[in-house]
Amino acid sequence: MAGPQDLKALADRAVAEIAMCADDAALEAARVRYLGRKDSEVTRATKQIASLPTKDKPAYGAAVNEAKARIESALQSRSAALHGASIDSSLRERVDLTLPPRPVRIGRLHPVTATIRDVSRIFGTMGFETIEGPEIETDYYNFEALNIPPGHPAREKWDTLWVSNPLGDDPKVPLLGRTHTSPMQVRVMEKRKPPIRVVIPGRCYRYEATDAIHESILHQYEGLAIDEKLTMADLKGVLYSFARQIFGSKSNVRFRPDYFPFTEPSAEIAFSCVICEGKDPQCHTCGGDGWIEAAGCGMVHPDVLRRVGYDPDRYQGFAFGGGIERLAMVMSGTPDIRLFAQNDLRFLESF
Ligand SMILES: [Zn+2]
Repeated sequence: MAGPQDLKALADRAVAEIAMCADDAALEAARVRYLGRKDSEVTRATKQIASLPTKDKPAYGAAVNEAKARIESALQSRSAALHGASIDSSLRERVDLTLPPRPVRIGRLHPVTATIRDVSRIFGTMGFETIEGPEIETDYYNFEALNIPPGHPAREKWDTLWVSNPLGDDPKVPLLGRTHTSPMQVRVMEKRKPPIRVVIPGRCYRYEATDAIHESILHQYEGLAIDEKLTMADLKGVLYSFARQIFGSKSNVRFRPDYFPFTEPSAEIAFSCVICEGKDPQCHTCGGDGWIEAAGCGMVHPDVLRRVGYDPDRYQGFAFGGGIERLAMVMSGTPDIRLFAQNDLRFLESF
């Protein structure tokens, strides 16, 4: 004999099953099984009413209605849950506007590049054009044209990296990593007529045991001016102006006699220490003496002028050259030249 308790058990089973439905198809199958018009579980239970004694019919009918209502409500809420979940997951796939933004990493120039641009800009204000030259040079341009013939002791100062030459001993074939940017003095003079004002930044090579101030690959800047009536005073004026533009108006320049085979007279240039202004005997940048040796310079040697076809009685010129890393080290207080080529972002991002 069927009773209201059977309908409660039926509704419990249906509600539990509906809660497990994973998609619309499963939900529809459950609806048909429990509530469908033909031969569903609730329909069958409803038909039993006819066979019941009259006194039991109202309670049984009420139990049928209650079971139906519970199952319908379970179907509705499961359907809402399934659709809500699919909206949630489609949103997650696109974009979550509540997440904090990812930081934008802004690139910057390598300190060597930035210093080269500073040098070019400053000499540019004095009429110097920036040009570039080959990094692999011939013995002629790197040495001989600059008064450094084979056997000259100055070659010992510029030991470099040699490239094997598949064409034999042709002196015109590039053979060596240029040891300085000075070969470009000759290349420019061969191609142009005075007046000349150029600055040549670029990479150079040395065979070095590297340490805090020596690297086997380094950058230099070279300056050359050729004109009538140029003197050492013009050279000093240009370098004073450079020092004050790059290191500030307090900067001073010291010239001391030096020797280079391709300039005569020659001088060593030191800039006053911008870090300690000469007041700190322990200064890491200047070593405590207040001056930073930064470049070499001089009046272009008459033999160099003659070799390119200039008349040294009519044209004079001055040249200067210094290290780009050296400038960058002084400006930033960097203690070790090797840091520039190590690609350590902690170092590079400090600029
Ligand atoms: Zn100092």
